[in-house]
Amino acid sequence: MLVGGLQKYLNFFLKLIEIMGRCILLTSGKGGVGKTTLTSNLAATLSKMGYETLAIDANFTDPNLGIHLGTHLVTKTLHDVLRGDEKLENVIYTHPLGFKVIPGSLSINALKNINYKKLSSIILKLLSKFDFILLDSAAGLGEETMSAMDSVGEVLVVTNPDLPSVTDAFKTIKYAEKKNKKVIGVILNRVKKNQYELDEKELSEMFGVPIIGSVPEDISIAKSIHKKIPVVHIDSNSPAAKEIRKIAHKIVGKHYYETEKEGVFGRLLKLFGK
Ligand code: ADP
Ligand code: MG
Repeated sequence: MLVGGLQKYLNFFLKLIEIMGRCILLTSGKGGVGKTTLTSNLAATLSKMGYETLAIDANFTDPNLGIHLGTHLVTKTLHDVLRGDEKLENVIYTHPLGFKVIPGSLSINALKNINYKKLSSIILKLLSKFDFILLDSAAGLGEETMSAMDSVGEVLVVTNPDLPSVTDAFKTIKYAEKKNKKVIGVILNRVKKNQYELDEKELSEMFGVPIIGSVPEDISIAKSIHKKIPVVHIDSNSPAAKEIRKIAHKIVGKHYYETEKEGVFGRLLKLFGK
């Protein structure tokens, strides 16, 4: 965690650099809510939309972005760079879907001698090269999440629509705001629309930030993880994939139209970049 003065300086610098690229942390209070699934799929979507995109595994203890993306067998990882054993350029891999990935190491020894705080300087070096850098965070507010949060300008909070996840998400939002990070919004994931789920409108009021997406519970996510291919590619017409595309459009501030339903009006709007 950075001390007040240094954090303010870094925030100022991140804001200046934002004109070159946006760096967004996908985080959560509770674990297992869908951060890695959303990071991999948003990276694939933003890349397909024509943005230079990089996905970084900033979950140092349980890095499984590589497993979601099929880049888990690489020998050089972010851990090596954080340890000072490898050059940054050697751990940036190109995914077959066009975006770049920096995976973490799955080895149990990988955490030895790594310096979390190096992440900020890594991001500063990379921001000018990308339109979007997405960081897949660990859950909770431990040291590694805090280091990752220190390194970004913007935060997306992922939660499931149940009380334990939502309570922890609330804490994460408050922490991010205290750190002067821009909380873009909350993504509700694994939404089943049953009577036990918390209401979207009430949640948005409670969080004080918009709910920018509501991704349904969808079996195609399990299939996509099994195949190690983002759902937006392998099952692009699944309900989850459609919602993830909508979220990506909200992040970039563009309207989203389903290609097959967009009609003349939608195509005209697209033509004028709306
Ligand atoms: P986190 O990174 O927050 O720990 P993951 O992205 O690894 O969470 O997701 C945890 C599990 O939840 C994964 O096994 C994935 O298959 C499942 N999952 C995530 N989102 C959905 C969804 N919308 N529908 C069905 N299963 C999902
Ligand atoms: Mg994860």
